[in-house]
Amino acid sequence: MPKKIAILGSTGSIGISTLKVVQKLKPAFQVVGLTAYRNVKELAQQIKTYRPKMAAILDWKFFPELKALTKGTSTQLLAGEEGLVAVAGDSGADMVLTAIVGAAGLKPTLTAIQKGKDIALANKETMVMAGDVVTKAAKKSGSRILPVDSEHCAVFQCLAGSTKPSEIHKILLTASGGPFRNLNKKHFSKITLKQALKHPTWRMGPKITIDSATLMNKGLEVIEAHYLFGAPYSKIDIVIHPESIIHSMVEYIDGSVLAQLGTTDMQIPIQYALTYPARGNSPVNRLDLTQIGQLHFEKPDHGKFPCVDLAYEAGEKGGTYPAVLNAANEVAVNRFLKEEISFNDIPKIIGKTLRKYRPLTNGNLDGILWADHWARETASAI
Ligand code: NDP
Repeated sequence: MPKKIAILGSTGSIGISTLKVVQKLKPAFQVVGLTAYRNVKELAQQIKTYRPKMAAILDWKFFPELKALTKGTSTQLLAGEEGLVAVAGDSGADMVLTAIVGAAGLKPTLTAIQKGKDIALANKETMVMAGDVVTKAAKKSGSRILPVDSEHCAVFQCLAGSTKPSEIHKILLTASGGPFRNLNKKHFSKITLKQALKHPTWRMGPKITIDSATLMNKGLEVIEAHYLFGAPYSKIDIVIHPESIIHSMVEYIDGSVLAQLGTTDMQIPIQYALTYPARGNSPVNRLDLTQIGQLHFEKPDHGKFPCVDLAYEAGEKGGTYPAVLNAANEVAVNRFLKEEISFNDIPKIIGKTLRKYRPLTNGNLDGILWADHWARETASAI
């Protein structure tokens, strides 16, 4: 029997890479659910190719066009947030790969977890804003959360064989450093959108590409690692590694450091999440270290990239603070993508939002959604 998979955010960078992996793993996998925000043409094409049981588009405006473009297929078409939630929970999937960008991924991901589906998690914002809620729900339903993020997939592999948290000295998350690693801070105010969208090693969607340029992506990954691996923040460090060949490392108390290496292509961690615990043949070109020649490492520059400290601060405070950090970041990055604010404004908006925040609620789901809403309004006003 093929393993049934639903892909939330199938029209994005991770979604499309996942479909490439599924194509290579055929007939071991069957696509039963697909979702998009408003890229109706790509979604329609995917529906015609993969014939899923269900598909949903978030924006109702595109629903009639989706119907027209997929006429003759038997796929059940849905729209709106309820549509996405239905694909996550009711498409008959064994595994749901969550590749929606941002907080919009929370409700469908949580639904899939509550229904006991295994999760291949790319949508890190869900884990950042609601890590406690998500991990508790997974424990209750028996759902396994398998990381797709290359760093967390690396840590997950380096942890295999060790079940004792007391034996872990550090989790070392590697970061390329983004396009501005070598740029003097005094030029940061002049950074353009085009420059920020030019990531040195990875090709990704626009939001995560900007997060990588500010290093907020690494900050979000620190919080994601805290919840995925149950490690305290004091045991999670960032190492700048410009070649992005080592995807992350685990240092044990005896001084042994285990690393996972691979080419910079998300198809490798996606495939591992899909086939885990088995391994399939490499979906991409193999790593040739003799071609790479040298690997470099340095400490992150906290002065140049204040988002790193903001993320540690929100993570350490816990509760609803990470949701506030995430929402303020989403608002700021959106405005930067529209060229309405400068690159330097991004950490300023997030920092000011965090300073203004007075948690009135605890970290349950309602509290998180309230904090997310409050932070979006506050960050927008700032
Ligand atoms: P993209 O922007 O390329 O794709 C996002 C996907 O989500 C698209 O299918 C998009 O639909 C859909 N989407 C966007 N907004 C909404 C919304 N409000 N509600 C529902 N669906 C929505 O992003 P990426 O693929 O780059 O990233 C996806 C997630 O994976 C992010 O959380 C990111 O941090 C994480 N990730 C990405 C990596 C990468 O290499 N790209 C690496 C590691 C993690 P449409 O196309 O219609 O707009």
